[in-house]
Amino acid sequence: MSDVRNVIIIGSGPAGYTAALYTARASLKPLVFEGAVTAGGALMNTTEVENFPGFQDGIMGPDLMDNMRAQSERFGAELVADDIVSVNLTGDIKIVTDTAGTVHKAKAVIVATGSQHRKLGLPNEDALSGRGVSWCATCDGFFFKDQDIAVIGGGDTAMEEATFLSRFAKSVTIVHRRDTLRASKTMQERAFADPKIKFIWDSEVAEIQGDPKLSGLKLRNLKTGELSDLAVTGLFIAVGHDPRTELFKGQLDLDEEGYLKVDAPSTRTNLSGVFGAGDVVDHTYRQAITASGTGCASALDAERFLAALTDHEEQAEPEKTSV
Ligand code: NDP
Repeated sequence: MSDVRNVIIIGSGPAGYTAALYTARASLKPLVFEGAVTAGGALMNTTEVENFPGFQDGIMGPDLMDNMRAQSERFGAELVADDIVSVNLTGDIKIVTDTAGTVHKAKAVIVATGSQHRKLGLPNEDALSGRGVSWCATCDGFFFKDQDIAVIGGGDTAMEEATFLSRFAKSVTIVHRRDTLRASKTMQERAFADPKIKFIWDSEVAEIQGDPKLSGLKLRNLKTGELSDLAVTGLFIAVGHDPRTELFKGQLDLDEEGYLKVDAPSTRTNLSGVFGAGDVVDHTYRQAITASGTGCASALDAERFLAALTDHEEQAEPEKTSV
């Protein structure tokens, strides 16, 4: 059993790092797979976070993640910048395998794999990715200086991307499929007040055009069916996220949208010793602070599970008799 860890955490971001902090402080020496390219999670692609309590003047998303990461490391969390490519979580000893094929074992696993950018599902979308089509304004915005850009979506991400991009762009057009925004009032007002940002309502993207680079969009008005052209050389897609649960299909119970099911208010999944936290579970709140909150809950659940396991193992051990 010497190579069996107490707990492995799959995923970083506020949920993973908070779970790492709590399990590390409980002396459980967590092993954390942060992800090869996604370490830090979605907040690594944001700018200013103004609603994480404790930061009166706001904090940049990547700085917040760096702080959480360092805080968990300070208490002994072992962080690995790698992906887990396969899992076997059904037995008492959980087995996870990294990209190099190395097998890691633990008594408990916390799944905090978050979510990934949703795509529009249009033919040219992947082909023009990196050639005008992007999912991350903070990563790619700089390349679109003085260009005409479209942002798709009506949520906080779309507003944030648009206001960020307007610093570089000649113009930013937000295309939204309804005539009201889902984004919070503050973010909406910021976008409405920006002279470089305009809106096209009730419309979806029918076609992404260009070869080899993006040259424009064909839009469809969903009320009239009318088609129109929008000449843009940048397209930022901000239409939400899907949970990252592909790895767990067939082992962990998922809901119809693919989110990990937990026995709320606990973070227990259908498998004993496996817990879920953050955006991979949550399709309602999806905030950094709620992800941190469930990350903390998952650590406490794992800690109690391991304590009960130890009690059980001690009771099961035959009494030693002296001759
Ligand atoms: P959301 O799910 O909130 O919004 C997605 C948007 O995309 C919606 O307006 C939706 O339209 C639209 N949409 C979805 N699918 C399609 C499609 N196939 N075609 C066209 N449009 C589509 O996702 P976000 O990424 O914006 O936000 C996720 C969470 O993160 C939220 O809780 C948000 O508050 C939070 N967030 C907070 C920030 C902050 O506070 N600084 C910054 C960024 C995000 P419809 O409205 O019609 O459903």
